[in-house]
Amino acid sequence: MVIDVLFPIDAEAFTYLVPEGLEQKIKIGVRVLAPFRMGKKVGIVSGIGSPATMSLRGTLATKQSLRENENQEIATSRNVGTRNDKKIITLKPIEAVLDEEPLIPENLFKLIKWVGQYYISTSGLALKNAVPSGVLEGRKSGKSRITYDTDIRPVKIFNLTAEQKNALSEINSAQSGVFLLYGVTGSGKTEIYIRAIESLGDKEAIVLVPEIALTAQIIDRFRSRFGDKVAFFHSGLSEGEKISQWRKIRNGEVRVALGVRNAVFAPFKNLGLIVVDEEQEASYKQFEGLKYHSRDVALARSKLEGIKIILGSATPSIETFYNAQKEKFKYLELKSRIEEKPMPGVEILDMTNENKKTWIFSDKLLNALNKNISQGYQSLIMLNRRGYSPFLMCTDCGYTYKCPACSITLTYHKDTKTLNCHYCGSYLEPKDTCPDCKGSRIKYIGIGTQRVEEELNTLIPEISLKRMDRDSTRRKHAHYRIVKDMEDKKIDILMGTQMVAKGHDFPDVTFAAVVFADVALNLPDFRSSERAFQLFTQLAGRAGRGDVPGEVYIQTYEPHHYVFDYVRKHDYKGFYEKEIELRKELSYPPFSRLIRIVFNFKNRDVIEKTIRDVSVKIKRTKIPDVDILGPAPAPIEKLRNQWRWHIVLKGRNYKTLRQNALAILNAVKEIKDIKIDVDVDPVNMM
Ligand code: ADP
Ligand code: ZN
Repeated sequence: MVIDVLFPIDAEAFTYLVPEGLEQKIKIGVRVLAPFRMGKKVGIVSGIGSPATMSLRGTLATKQSLRENENQEIATSRNVGTRNDKKIITLKPIEAVLDEEPLIPENLFKLIKWVGQYYISTSGLALKNAVPSGVLEGRKSGKSRITYDTDIRPVKIFNLTAEQKNALSEINSAQSGVFLLYGVTGSGKTEIYIRAIESLGDKEAIVLVPEIALTAQIIDRFRSRFGDKVAFFHSGLSEGEKISQWRKIRNGEVRVALGVRNAVFAPFKNLGLIVVDEEQEASYKQFEGLKYHSRDVALARSKLEGIKIILGSATPSIETFYNAQKEKFKYLELKSRIEEKPMPGVEILDMTNENKKTWIFSDKLLNALNKNISQGYQSLIMLNRRGYSPFLMCTDCGYTYKCPACSITLTYHKDTKTLNCHYCGSYLEPKDTCPDCKGSRIKYIGIGTQRVEEELNTLIPEISLKRMDRDSTRRKHAHYRIVKDMEDKKIDILMGTQMVAKGHDFPDVTFAAVVFADVALNLPDFRSSERAFQLFTQLAGRAGRGDVPGEVYIQTYEPHHYVFDYVRKHDYKGFYEKEIELRKELSYPPFSRLIRIVFNFKNRDVIEKTIRDVSVKIKRTKIPDVDILGPAPAPIEKLRNQWRWHIVLKGRNYKTLRQNALAILNAVKEIKDIKIDVDVDPVNMM
C-alpha cells in the first residue's frame, strides 16, 4: 500500500509506503508520522492506493501542480518521501499511524484542498492555515486563560420586531442557500444570528467576525446566550488556548465557534449554519502567505456541506449586493433601527473655509463635542491613521525620512520617540538635525491619532480620554478592557483609528466625528470610495443607538466628493447604484474577476531586463477572454527590501483566468531573480 501524506508546509502531498502491519489503520484524514528531510514529521493521509494507481494519479496531479518544481526539489534533494513523478524514486515507509479516527472531518479536509487549488497555492499551506500546528503535533491543550468577565449580563430576551421575524422565518425555513441580511446599523442583525443558531437543533454553527476589536461585545452576547457551548478563535489566543478551543469543537463539546478569519476552518462535523458578520470587511482577506478570503471560503464551505450561510452587513460589499440583486443570494432587509430609533444627523464640515480654533478641529466640531460632554454623554472620534505624525520634514531642504526597506515615509510615534514603518515594522530614531543638509528646522507634518489625543488633552483636560489603535491595544485583552470601560462609562471620549468605528454597541455614544476624512479618499485602488463610504457609515452607525439621537461630523478638505452625498443621507442603495455604474464602465468586479501576480526582485539592477523577459513570456500566454494589465510597478514599489512589479489579470470566467495565471507562472518559472506572489480575488491592489 502507498499513501499520499499532506504536511503543513507549502507543498502538495508526498507519497510513502505503508508497512504491512499498519495498513488496516490507514484512513483518509488520520495523522501519520513519516520520515521527512533529516527528521520526522506529522502529516495527514490525503490519498490511499496501490503503487500503480498512485503513480498514475501522481502524474496527473503533477501536471496541475503549480509548485511542482519546488516540491520535487525538496523531495529529491532530501531523498525522502517523493512526489509522484515519472521517475519514481525509492519510497520511504511511514513510521506510525497516530489516530484511530480521522483527526480532520471529511468535509473540512475537502475544503482545505479546495482552498489550496482555488487560491493557486498548495493544499499543504491550506492545511497549515486551517489547523493549529500544536493540534497536528498532538501537543497538550493549554489551560484556558481566557479572562473575560464572568458576570455576563443576561445583554435581555425581547420580542423580535416584525422585520426581524420575517427575516428569521425565511432563514429558518431554508436548509441551504446564501442569505444577504442587509440591515442598517442597530437594526438587530446580531439578534437574528443568535436566534437562527438557537433554531438549528443539534446542528452546529460558525460565526465569523472581522477582527478582534469587534469581538469583545459579540463574545459577551454569545456567552450570555450559549454559555460554555461557544468556542472562540481570535489572534489574542495563545497556542495552548488555540489547541484547547480546536479540540472542544472537534469533540463536539461546543455548538458555536465564533472568531476571526480562520474560524471558517472550525472542525465541526455536523455544521448547520455559517454567519459572516460585516461581510464587506477587508480584514477577512489574509494578505500574507495563503491569500484566502474567509467570507469566500465560508461560501465554499456552505456549498460543500449543503448548508445555509448568512452574510450580514449595513454596508454590503458591492459584489455581494450585486449577487443579491441578481438573485444568486436571497435578500433580506431590515429597514429601520430597533424601536424606530432615528439615524443620526450627519454634517460634512468643509475644512477649507471653516473657522478653526485649533488647526485640527473646526469650531463647529469642538462646540458640539463640548456640548455632548457637558450633557454627560460619550463621544467617538476617528482618524484613520496611527502614530503622531505621518512624516517629519526638514523645512530647509525638504528632506523626509523614508523606510530603508520600503518606499514608504516613516510615521513619527511620540510615545516611543521613533520613526516607524507601518508596513515592515522597522523603526529608527530621528536626529535633531537633518541627515541631509544638517539643518535644524525639522517639522512634524500632518496628524495621526497620538497627535489628536495630545490636542484633545490640551483642549479639554478634564475629560477621560482613551486612544484605541493598534499601538494602544497590543497587550492581550487590551481591546476588551477598553470596550468594558466604555460600557461602564469610565471613558468620555474614545478616539482612534477605524477600530472605533466597527461593530460596537454603546448606547450612550451620541456624538461621532471624523477628524480628517481625506485619509480614506482617493487611494489608488478601485475600491477606495467603497471603503470610505463603509467606514464613515459604520462610524455614524455607532452614534445614537440608545435613547438619545446621535450626531455625526465629518471634517474634510474635499466636501464635494460624491461619497459624502450618500453618507449624509445614509443612502447605501444610492451609493450602490452610483458605484455599480462605475464598476461596469471599467469592467471591475463584480463584472469581472481578478488575479494579481506580484513579481518581487531583490536586486534593482536586474528589474528592467527581467521584466522585459517576463513581458514577452506573458504575452505568449494570453487567452482571448483575459485582459492582462501591466507589468507595472506596484503602488508600493518597494516593500521589505523587495522591489515589486505586478500584473492584474481580468476576465469574466474564473476557470480561464486561473488557466492563464498558471500558464504565466509556468512560463516565467525558469526566470531567475524573481519571487512570485499570486493573489486570487485581490482586495488590496497596493
Ligand atoms: P446590529 O447587529 O444590526 O447592529 P444589534 O443586533 O446589535 O444590531 O441590535 C442593536 C441593539 O438593539 C442591541 O443592543 C440589541 O440588544 C437590541 N435589540 C435587538 N433586537 C431587539 C428587539 N427585537 N427588541 C429590543 N431590542 C433589540
Ligand atoms: Zn518598511
